[in-house]
Amino acid sequence: MLAAGVPATDRNIPSAAKAVAAAEDSFRPPLAPHALHGLSAKTPFAGDVFVGSSLLDMYAKCGHLADARRLFDEMPERNVVSWSALICGYADSGMHSAAMGIFRMALEDAVPVNDFTISCIIRVCASATLFVLGAQVHTRSIKTALNASPFVGSSLVSLYSKCGLVECAYRVFGEAPERNLGIWNAVLIASAQHGHTSAAFQRFMEMQNAGFWPNYITFLCLLTACSHAGLVDEGKRYFSLMKEYGSEPQAEHYAAMVDLLGRVGRISEALDLIESMPMEPPESVWGALLMACRMFKDADTAAIAAKRLFETGSRSSGAHMLLSSTYAAAGRHVDAALARKAMRDAGVRKETGLSWLEAAGEVHTFVSNCRRHPRSNEIYRLLEKVGEKMEAAGYVADTNAVVKDVDKDEKQATVRYHSERLAIGLGLLIVPEGVPIRVMKNLRVCDDCHNAIKYLSKCTGRIVVLRDNRRFHRFEDGACSCGDFW
Ligand SMILES: [Zn+2]
Ligand SMILES: [Zn+2]
Repeated sequence: MLAAGVPATDRNIPSAAKAVAAAEDSFRPPLAPHALHGLSAKTPFAGDVFVGSSLLDMYAKCGHLADARRLFDEMPERNVVSWSALICGYADSGMHSAAMGIFRMALEDAVPVNDFTISCIIRVCASATLFVLGAQVHTRSIKTALNASPFVGSSLVSLYSKCGLVECAYRVFGEAPERNLGIWNAVLIASAQHGHTSAAFQRFMEMQNAGFWPNYITFLCLLTACSHAGLVDEGKRYFSLMKEYGSEPQAEHYAAMVDLLGRVGRISEALDLIESMPMEPPESVWGALLMACRMFKDADTAAIAAKRLFETGSRSSGAHMLLSSTYAAAGRHVDAALARKAMRDAGVRKETGLSWLEAAGEVHTFVSNCRRHPRSNEIYRLLEKVGEKMEAAGYVADTNAVVKDVDKDEKQATVRYHSERLAIGLGLLIVPEGVPIRVMKNLRVCDDCHNAIKYLSKCTGRIVVLRDNRRFHRFEDGACSCGDFW
């Protein structure tokens, strides 16, 4: 067009910007965004708000956040597109506090925000499990009627689900006036992660009856649901059903299948599936196999899985720990020590076990056996008192669990004061009676804590929702929603 002498204008620059933003990374010349920006600066439309925000949106979508921010700061005039492009750009790049900062500025300047902005901010709250803030944004969206948008709706479903309030997630879904594929997938993954497996299958039928065609994310949700419930046959059925729906299984689907087979101990079958993959198996696939080997004490396969996993360039401390504890569980203590040494030699640091509880607008974080929290004395006293009741009810601390998958800091701590228990202790003190105590943890909950929290829920009459790095556990009246399968 330019070669034919047609000038760049406020009409065609935004279209070109959209094209650059939409192009896949491999097809986009690295400097294309900057070239287009440079070209537009030479036209009389450089200060045009419509042109400016389309360029800003392009920079943000291409991941050039610093350029997007510079352009935003220099714009003589901004509109809702400029604000939301920057907020969503930060949110999608995981720069959560920057996204929140711009969102606050938008509120202070009383800039009208749209449903995309709101849904981005709710997604930020969801990935950081900032429940209170997310709920405030939800309330705001009701006032401006933006909550009717299915984009906002699906972010809300995932916010409440990730914060452990699956009933709220279902309510948002049930009340949504308009549904898109995104909100159906969001409610499917919520059902899967909270162990409501038959609800997930039911919703899969309902979504098709409502005229929605399942995509690869839908199938990933279903496979996750099967995996959390150990349903191998259903999982295989959905895995082969994908092709009938025109979706080729991706690496994530293979990882979910390996997880599913591995959790029920069908390790050689899982290994065969990996060997049949049409693509190079990524870290997640080997990680799932390694986890299964740990559960079933299969040290030989664990060694293969770990070797292949490290070949992907992974520096996961979890994988080193899993390998060493699989050796230990199989009685191969020399190999276990060698695996730990290999980890130190590779300069990989163990991830510290952290648990956190959000209450009254504050996030309280705990590591095992720590006394940094100002109310530590009360927490320890209370846990001791509850511990006596638990023991009277039949709880016996399983010290074996301590030498399993937990990191060294947690190992040294007496089991009673693992980080999640301290967080729950604070929850008992400050979360009002009748409200579930919601705790998040970055690592897998250990066997003993899982057992102890069951007793704790019975002895205190409280509901505890614990999210570890695998799934949600809802402890109520002495039982856990995972059915001890996690
Ligand atoms: Zn524990
Ligand atoms: Zn559980």
